[in-house]
Parts: sequence; C-alpha cells; structure tokens
Amino acid sequence: MRVFNFSAGPGVLPLEVLEKAQKELVEYGTSGMSVMEMSHRSKPYEAIIGETEARLRKLMDIPDNYSVLFLQGGASLQFAMVPLNLFRKSNTADYMETGQFASKALKEAKKFGEVRVVASSKADTYSYIPKITKEDVNPEADYFYICANNTIYGTKFNVFPDTGDVPLVADMSSCILSEKVDVSQFGLIFAGAQKNLGPAGVTLVIIRNDLLGFAKENVPTMLDYKVMVENDSMYNTPPTYGIYMLKLMFEWIEAKGGVEVLEKINREKAALLYDFLDQSKLFKGTAVKEDRSMMNVTFVTGDADLDAKFVKEATAAGFVNLKGHRSVGGMRASIYNAMPVEGIQKLVEFMKKFEAEN
Ligand SMILES: *Cc1c(COP(=O)(O)O)cnc(C)c1O
Repeated sequence: MRVFNFSAGPGVLPLEVLEKAQKELVEYGTSGMSVMEMSHRSKPYEAIIGETEARLRKLMDIPDNYSVLFLQGGASLQFAMVPLNLFRKSNTADYMETGQFASKALKEAKKFGEVRVVASSKADTYSYIPKITKEDVNPEADYFYICANNTIYGTKFNVFPDTGDVPLVADMSSCILSEKVDVSQFGLIFAGAQKNLGPAGVTLVIIRNDLLGFAKENVPTMLDYKVMVENDSMYNTPPTYGIYMLKLMFEWIEAKGGVEVLEKINREKAALLYDFLDQSKLFKGTAVKEDRSMMNVTFVTGDADLDAKFVKEATAAGFVNLKGHRSVGGMRASIYNAMPVEGIQKLVEFMKKFEAEN
C-alpha cells in the first residue's frame, strides 16, 4: 500500500507518473526496448530528451537566450561548477548564507575565488531570510548566489534580490516548478531532480548564454557548461532514464494545467498546514512567518520526546518521513508538487487527534 510520503528528498512522485513509467518500462513505444536499454544517440532517445527540454521551456517560459542542461553529480556538484564557470572578471562572488546548502556552496566557491557573505541567518538557526537592498550587492561581483528554498529550515525567498547587472544564481533544488518564476531575472538556475522533478541522478541547469565560455583551461571538460551546451548534454552518456522520468513529470504538470495551477494548489496545501500550526497549542512552526517555505514545513512541539512520539505514531498511521533533518531535529513535512491536497488534509486531521491526546 502506498503511504503519504513527506520525504525531503528523494521525494514523492505522482502515482500517474509511476504508472506510466511502469507501462512503458519494458517497451517504449514501438522501439522494442526499454528506455534504459537505448543508445543515447538513437532516434527514439533523441526524441525523448528533445521533448523533455521543449516541455520544460514551455512550462517555465524559458527565453531563447538560455540553455537547458541535464547533468549528473547532483546539486552539490553545482556548488563547484558555478564558481568554476562564472568566476571570470573580478574573481569575487556574493553569497547569501541562508542554510546548510548555501553554506556548503560558499565553502566550495572559496576554493576558486573570493567569497563575500552578504548576509547570514546562521546565528538564528537559519529561521529567516535576511533582507538586503541593491546597495548590499557588490557591483564588481562575478555573480550573486542564493538558495531559493532552504529545504532543511523551511524558509524561502518570497522576493528575489535585485542584483542589477550582477548575474543572480539560484539553487532551486527544492522549489523548482512549485511556483511561477521569471527566468530572465537569473543568470543561472540549478536543481537536483530528486525533490520536485523526478528521481535522483539528474541535475537541471538553466544558464544564460552570455555566461558560457569562461571556464579556465584547467577546468575538467565535464565541468565546463559550454562543452555540455555544445553537446546538448550528451558529451558523454547522460542519465537517460532519469531524463525520461522528467519528461513524464513535465507531461503530468502540463496535464494539471501548468505551473500557475500547481502554484495555486501549493499555496492551498501550505496554508492548510500553516493555519493549523498557527492555532495549535502543541505544534509550532520554526520559520518566521514571512519567509515560510511552500515546500518544506518545519515544526516542533518543544519537547524532543513528544516529537519522537509524534513521528513514530504518524509513521504507523501512514504518514512517513516526517522527522526533521538530523541537524535540526523536530519535524518537517515536505509537500512537493506530487503530494496531493488530501495528504495534507489527512495529516492535519492526524495532528489534531495527536494534539487532543497529548
Ligand atoms: C537536497 C539539496 C541539495 C543537495 O542535493 P544533491 O543532489 O544531493 O547534491 C542542494 N541544495 C538544496 C536546496 C537541496 O534541497
């Protein structure tokens, strides 16, 4: 029996997507083979990857002067690829430190250039997004880096910083396609697939073309965005099956009505949970209200034993992976695109019952 899976990642996938993949698992179309067995240079596979990109371009309204890449190495490899490719003039970059992933990214960038931490919420367990203005941006910086949604702490940028001519780089691993974004605001967007896009193994990169071609001579070929763009993500064998799963996911989003419709549903889902937390006498949200994530809802009871009891009883009732990240404890409900409204309604009912009993 399928449970309500609140995992932060790899996360829940729509049942329709899994069933379609199951139907096509052994033979894709009339190809006589599984997508897993196809040459990435074959006609049917070229059609798959081409369609995957085309669907994403349509869903996100990606302008023509941006390239779309399907890479490997996870979001964490982007922590290195971004500085290796984007340090090009001053060799300095601005970073907002809003969580563990942003912190890891800036540590990695420091290996290749000068990093300035523009603002940090570390002293408050990353429970909010520091507010900055255009004056806080170093106009000489090669890029300005943010983590758009902080998966572990349950915060998000509701407004992206205005960085003027400095390219804005965003890690959107846990929020991509959850709401409409204006791609033209960004120099580069990346996302590991396993939260809101598909299975682990694919990393999506959307890069403005004028930022290509600055990797230094000693940068490994596989880490040069320009090489990957020139080879349509097929310099070597791409994660073929994962990309196919993205295609199914994009078809599913289109069938739902697109990103605007998903955004509306996601707002509804998050409100259901946050409204309950705000009136609860037992549970309490941990992120400041104005910066709350729409994808990762973090909360506590204030008593570690009671938190553990809640997670245990929730698991037994079919609400799984609600334990908070090992670094912060408490609880976290990740409510990605594939989590149905019903999952949140039932979780809230369960939380009400738990509150009454405890
Ligand atoms: C999960 C996550 C990462 C790390 O992703 P990997 O693909 O495991 O490297 C980075 N950034 C954010 C925002 C994440 O949620």
